[in-house]
Amino acid sequence: WLHAPANLRQMWAGTAGHADKDYLVYQDERWTYAQAHDEVNRIANWLRENGVGQHDRVAIAMRNYPEWMLAYWAITSMGAVVVGVNAWWVSAELAYALEDSAPRAIICDEERLQRLGEIHGQFPDIKVAAVRCAHGVPEWATPWSEVLATKPLMPEVDIDPDDDACIFYTSGTTGRPKGAQLTHRGCSNNVLSMLFVNASQVSLIAKLNDNPGMDPASGNAPPPAQLMATPLFHVTANNCAAQPVTLAGGKLVFMYKWDAEEALRIIEEEKIRAISSVPAMARELVLHPSFADYDTSSVLGFGGGGAAVQPDLVGKISAMGRVANQGYGMTEASGIIAASMGNFLVERPTSCGPPLPVFDTRITDIDGNALPPGEIGEVCIRGVQLIKGYLNRPEATAETIVDGWLHTGDIGYLDEDNFLYLVDRAKDMVLRGGENIYCSEVENVIFRHPAVQEAAVFSVEDERLGEEVGAAIYPQNGKTLDPDDIRKFAREHLAGFKIPRYIWVLSDPLPRNASGKFLKKALQSELDIADAS
Ligand code: ATP
Ligand code: MG
Repeated sequence: WLHAPANLRQMWAGTAGHADKDYLVYQDERWTYAQAHDEVNRIANWLRENGVGQHDRVAIAMRNYPEWMLAYWAITSMGAVVVGVNAWWVSAELAYALEDSAPRAIICDEERLQRLGEIHGQFPDIKVAAVRCAHGVPEWATPWSEVLATKPLMPEVDIDPDDDACIFYTSGTTGRPKGAQLTHRGCSNNVLSMLFVNASQVSLIAKLNDNPGMDPASGNAPPPAQLMATPLFHVTANNCAAQPVTLAGGKLVFMYKWDAEEALRIIEEEKIRAISSVPAMARELVLHPSFADYDTSSVLGFGGGGAAVQPDLVGKISAMGRVANQGYGMTEASGIIAASMGNFLVERPTSCGPPLPVFDTRITDIDGNALPPGEIGEVCIRGVQLIKGYLNRPEATAETIVDGWLHTGDIGYLDEDNFLYLVDRAKDMVLRGGENIYCSEVENVIFRHPAVQEAAVFSVEDERLGEEVGAAIYPQNGKTLDPDDIRKFAREHLAGFKIPRYIWVLSDPLPRNASGKFLKKALQSELDIADAS
């Protein structure tokens, strides 16, 4: 019932048959597939009229508005290349991305237009189209109404599967974001991987609820409805949520800003089946005091990806009789690498599941030798989903992709059944006097403490031991938290040398990047040892 599209143009063209079905939903605005196709064709034609040809780059700089998706399908269908600009970036960072990616045009919203205004002089040749500008646009930008007034004509192009489809910047968790070159082949295969994961989840739930009608194989399962709660300029939302739902003719429901209670309201109203979330958001949802007041029965699973889903959260979700899920992915893999859910996750809560069939996977030691099951090393993957490389960074590309193998920088192991376990990022481990301490192991224990809402473990420089273990903790609403109580609790589950020497109890949630990952580097530089307990 599904065929593999060779490129994103074909993927989008194949959805025209969904005609009157809902596609994009934002507050009280709705687009059917037919309306979306019409606007996509107009956007592509406007870009062509403004000098954008095949292989040229077009930046998208906006929040999660429906226009993000319309622009994405227009640009990729005409064989041009999307540059996903992080909407959090200030003008200097925006200038860096525009210099790095040299786009011919940029499509932005009002706030990004203002930031562009500060640097526009540096990029006088970039054509600018602006959406949702309540206050009008400067003379160097074209208002969206003018773009949509163009004829709906999609340019004819032949797209090679190995052509660039988009440049997505990595999350910048371990350093400066790198522009990853994702291909049409990589994105198309990621969609197939995701459909495989989603179909497994639906079948699992059909069995769990003894409701075979939910199984896609039955032919009358409700269409997917996805809550878009993470930013579209990263693969989690775009490649892993929006694209497979589009191919399957489902609808995407956008949120301006993450808010757990608002999410619960939308879930009930739009009968949301899947949520693009990072685990921290899933935690806020299921622990929300009003969770039981809303009908969330349409949601297939809670959890997410992009960062570890802690075992305590898996336990909490399954104790509620719901399905927990977790995905491991990265920009360099165009999206998903491995996934686990339901009983698989309950039985192996620290595993992110078996790598998807499209990948060759191996764990290697420092010299690149493959290690047997059970031994910890670097996770390396190979296959059609990999990026071509990093834009303008041949050295970083050569270091990361060696003989076709992507060195993920993630440390982990495979068990005898080929389930993957991630223990840390290579750059995050604490090296304490010759002992390796995996932050995730310590975090998983701290998260089990009932007064903890958020926790991040990281290294703190130490004269004697090189590095010591530090932990920043944000308590659950209204609860008080005694650092010694955390240490006592941790000592029941961890060897003495892994117990955090420095603990900071913060009065604000931990700093996160746009992918929802804790910014350990910021914590390391901002927190003062003198303030720790
Ligand atoms: P940068 O590469 O710029 O430092 P980043 O690695 O966070 O940032 P992404 O490509 O968005 O950028 O994230 C991929 C990384 O996220 C993975 O390499 C892994 O470290 C982490 N990750 C993703 N999913 C999971 C998961 N389920 N469990 C643990 N870690 C995960
Ligand atoms: Mg990375």
